[in-house]
Amino acid sequence: MLSFAEARQVVIAESQSRANSRLPNTLPIAQALGHVLAQEVRSDREYPPFDRSTRDGYAVRASEASQGASMRCVGEIKAGDTVSEPLVAGTCVQIMTGAAVPAGADAVVMIEFTHRNGDAISFARPTEPGQNIVSRGSEAHAGDLALPGGVRLGYAELAVAAQVGATSLLCHSKARVAILSTGDEVVPISDTPGPFHIRNSNTVSLAAQVQLAGGEPIPFVNARDRADDLGAKIEEGLREDILVLSGGVSMGKYDLVESVLKGMGAEFFFDAVALRPGKPTVFGRCRNTLVFGLPGNPVSTMVTFQLFVIPAIDHQGGAKPRPLPMLEATLAEPIQEKAGLTHFLPARIEWPQLAGSVPSRFAPEVRPLRWQGSGDIAALTRANCFLVVPAEQPNIKEGEKVSVLPRFDVL
Ligand code: AMP
Ligand code: MG
Repeated sequence: MLSFAEARQVVIAESQSRANSRLPNTLPIAQALGHVLAQEVRSDREYPPFDRSTRDGYAVRASEASQGASMRCVGEIKAGDTVSEPLVAGTCVQIMTGAAVPAGADAVVMIEFTHRNGDAISFARPTEPGQNIVSRGSEAHAGDLALPGGVRLGYAELAVAAQVGATSLLCHSKARVAILSTGDEVVPISDTPGPFHIRNSNTVSLAAQVQLAGGEPIPFVNARDRADDLGAKIEEGLREDILVLSGGVSMGKYDLVESVLKGMGAEFFFDAVALRPGKPTVFGRCRNTLVFGLPGNPVSTMVTFQLFVIPAIDHQGGAKPRPLPMLEATLAEPIQEKAGLTHFLPARIEWPQLAGSVPSRFAPEVRPLRWQGSGDIAALTRANCFLVVPAEQPNIKEGEKVSVLPRFDVL
């Protein structure tokens, strides 16, 4: 049986061997959030485009504005003003944050360190050349690379694109992910469930996870535990880049996902992982679609999605698979689990509250939550992370360092 880390490597390797045939699209910047950039973006001009004052104060020649010196203020420059006149020797001009520093001036003195008497300005501190000025072109030159291809467009990336005038962007298509839950007990959330039915929460959580991970969810109506219904719905799901099934992958008589897929020509890369929750997870390929069979218990579905489906969504959406962002934390209470499986326990990681000065080290503490097993969705709403209990070290004492996987939507 593969470890969870080995299983992830298999997913990454198989995702990389599936070519994505969909062409990139040009999107207006307002629709590009979360897409992966399929072009380079370059600076259209120097940044900043002029020597820019970073403070409200006086533009001076540093050599003239020594401590105790006094000189006449001959004008004012606001942000956005056209600046053509050089600074006359022996004078200064009042200047605002974001305004262009005139030729001849080589420093801006903050208004707080000056004294004004009519037109006469005197300086309370020594002045260094260059102070409070960001010089033209110091952030980027015209033609410099502003964004490389392959970056996922977040708010900072969109701001850079906006700054250089890239109002539309060539973006990779998001990975299209078909979502198909299975189970005769599962009913639509708009129905009144019978006494032995449960509402289909997995399709909702999976669609949300796909969207948060940067994919495009395509939810299907739940399939019955019958080969004909399951087969027909899988057939439709195989039109997409990725098909994620929930349920029907355990050892029960009506767990039909693997056998139906096999009958449709699927090749499997693993059908169990040394993991809890999530041991029966199945991964394979059917025709040209990557197929995940996740266990149906909701917490298992959520954990295995984060571990295994996200790297495939990254790759099929044009990005490099992101690493698992493991953190180290101090365990708040002892843990005893079963050896041989890596456990991902719903837990809360907490950092010390910031008060006053910022401490030089943040030492987070992690506490497992009480839960009723992998059907307990409510426990996961109280968790902000999973505490990782290694297969070979199932007993951990309070105060020891442990690994923590943040829930990817809350931390
Ligand atoms: P399975 O993996 O098919 O054996 O399902 C395990 C358990 O997960 C079932 O007994 C249900 O309680 C639960 N389950 C399965 N599918 C769903 C679903 N779509 N939404 C919520 N819970 C589910
Ligand atoms: Mg089932």
